[in-house]
Order: sequence, then C-alpha cells, then structure tokens
Amino acid sequence: MKAVRFIAVGQPAEVVDLPQPKPGPGQILVKIGGAGVCHSDLHVMDEELGLKGPFTLGHENAGWIAGVGQGVDGWKEGDPVAVYGPWGCGHCHTCQTSAENYCENHASLGTMGGGLGSDGGMAEYMLVPSPRLLVPLGTLDPAIAAPLSDAALTPYHAIKAALPLLTPDTHVVVIGIGGLGHMAVQILHALCAATVIAGDIDESKLAHARELGVKHTVNTRDGDAAAAAIGKITGARGAVLALDFVGAQPTVDLCARVVGRNSRITVVGLGGGTLHYSANNPPYGCAVTVPYWGSRTELMEVIALATAGHIHPQVEKFPLEQAVAVYQRLREGKIKGRAVLVP
Ligand code: NAD
Ligand code: ZN
Ligand code: ZN
Repeated sequence: MKAVRFIAVGQPAEVVDLPQPKPGPGQILVKIGGAGVCHSDLHVMDEELGLKGPFTLGHENAGWIAGVGQGVDGWKEGDPVAVYGPWGCGHCHTCQTSAENYCENHASLGTMGGGLGSDGGMAEYMLVPSPRLLVPLGTLDPAIAAPLSDAALTPYHAIKAALPLLTPDTHVVVIGIGGLGHMAVQILHALCAATVIAGDIDESKLAHARELGVKHTVNTRDGDAAAAAIGKITGARGAVLALDFVGAQPTVDLCARVVGRNSRITVVGLGGGTLHYSANNPPYGCAVTVPYWGSRTELMEVIALATAGHIHPQVEKFPLEQAVAVYQRLREGKIKGRAVLVP
C-alpha cells in the first residue's frame, strides 16, 4: 500500500510502498477514507519535537473497519469510524476519564499516537492498537469527517473549558482562521451567543470567516492597528476570550492586548511565541491556558455536533500521492479550511 512517511527532522515527507498491516490480538485494521493535513505535521518535520522517524504521518483519521484482531468484539467490517488521535496508556486515572490527551504516562509511551510517533493514517490502511480508540461515525462521510478528530476536537476542548465566560454580551477573538480556526468559529456559533472577532494576516482567510457568518474580521499584520480595531469593537471591557491558533510572538502579544479583566487567553498554536508578564499585562483576572487536543468523549460530542449539522469542516480533497505538494500548499497558506488526503 502507499503511505506518506516522516523520515527525519529537516527532511520532506516521502510517499513509499509498504506492506498492508495485519491486525494482531486486540488490534483493528481501518481502511482510511480520509486523513487530515494538520499544520502540526510541519512542526514535526521542521523542529525537534522528540518524535523518532520513520513513521507514517496522519493523526486526523477516519475510515471503515477492515479487519479485527483476536479478542475484539462489537465492531464489524465496514463500520465507519473516526480514530481518536492522542493515544494514552489507557489505564491511568486521566485515561480512565477518557482524557487520554493528558495521559499521566505520556512520557514513557514513546509515541503521542498514530501519525505522531506510531504509524498514522496517511496510507490505505492503518492499525489501531485498541478498540477504545475508535468512535462510530454514523452517517458522516469519513473524508469530510477526518478533520473532526483534531481540527474540530482541539478547538472544541478549548472552547468548552471557557464556556462559563461566553455570555451573549461578550466578545471572543479567534486568531488564525485555518484548519482549526475555521472550526473554532463554527463551534463558538454552535455553543454560545458571544460575538466572534476573527483575525488573520491573510485576507482570503478573513473572507472565509465572513462566509462562516463572522461579522467582525481584522487583519492582524500590523499589531497596533489590529489591537485598535479590536478595541473599537469590544469597547473598554475588552474580549473575554482570545483563542490563538498561531501562537507566534505577534499573536500572543495581540492576545494580551485585546483581552479585558477576568478573561482568558488560550494558546493552541505551536508558533513558539512567549507570553510576557508584567503588572496588569495581561490584565488582572486573566487566565492563560495551553490546552492539548481533546478527550474521547469530547470527540463523540464533536461528531454529534457535525451529525446535527451545526458544524461542517470545509475540506479540500487530494490524492495520497500528492502529499508532498499539499504540505507545501499548507506552508504557503493556500489551503481553505482543511486539506484531506484520500487514498
Ligand atoms: P493552518 O495552517 O491550517 O492555519 C493557520 C492560520 O493562521 C492560517 O489561516 C494563517 O494565515 C494564519 N496565520 C499564520 N501566521 C499568522 C499570524 N502571524 N497572525 C495571524 N494569523 C496567522 O494551521 P492549523 O492546522 O489550523 O494549526 C494551527 C496551529 O495549531 C499550528 O501551530 C498547529 O501545530 C497547532 N495545533 C495545536 C494543537 C494542540 O492541541 N495544541 C492541535 C492541533 C494543531
Ligand atoms: Zn493536528
Ligand atoms: Zn494514561
């Protein structure tokens, strides 16, 4: 089968031929219907994150059961599934509560999940080590649903934690309207009546936000002008939440400037920025959070939101063989919503 492999830091991904895996005891073979192309893969290829290659990329996966190993009950060939991405130990207290994204034993596992240390879903087939990591997809098309498992799950987890702040008279600033950001906007609209302000440096991404119903869009290329424009919209109260899907120095700085007192800054992007602290900056009462991915039960909630039609990933589909060119397009900011590789 064809597979897209991470080789080593500093090297581009490679499309290679590999033998089709066979499910061992307790494992499930998934025929991939779609694998999302996440910006985190660019960080994996560019930076030393402690992940050892080679392995098959793709941590945002959905497809159909293609085979089950000995001892796996309750799943049958052809069932559509999403693969839960952050693989924990499965037995620590946190994993038992379904939050494998915060597994207490993560440091000793040697992998963060399929596509992030273990073989992922940018291939025709993927081995999933345990049935607990599968969530039924119901009527959703796996090629459209793949991004739900990260591009939607990650902002959902971040937004859910901030919901008590998001009353109808408040403002939320969302920075970076790419794969995660375009889902964040939809999740905010689905879960609360706070007013969304979308920020990006790319006018086409701001136009996408407007297509998704966002009334206030701000080009953040000039930080001073952006802070002033956002301040005009929020008034003296400032924003109650700033969600940063870039995490670079200019964006974390902007977050601290646009939130008001008793607010929250949530940095999701891995852009390497440093949030500086001084008296009243960020303002008093502001909490800073750095969430990672989401829990298994939250993935079920995200799938329910999509099934009910409240959120819908904007997907550009590409054949698996074009993976290297698709990563380049993502790097250049040329993907609207999420690119999905379809084997
Ligand atoms: P993406 O490339 O699809 O989108 C990024 C968006 O940010 C684009 O619209 C781009 O125009 C915009 N942007 C880039 N630089 C900007 C700047 N300086 N100011 C404003 N906007 C800017 O990326 P994605 O797949 O949505 O991922 C976003 C980030 O989130 C990445 O850093 C990724 O690694 C990270 N991530 C984190 C988690 C987590 O759990 N913490 C999970 C998934 C992804
Ligand atoms: Zn990701
Ligand atoms: Zn665990």
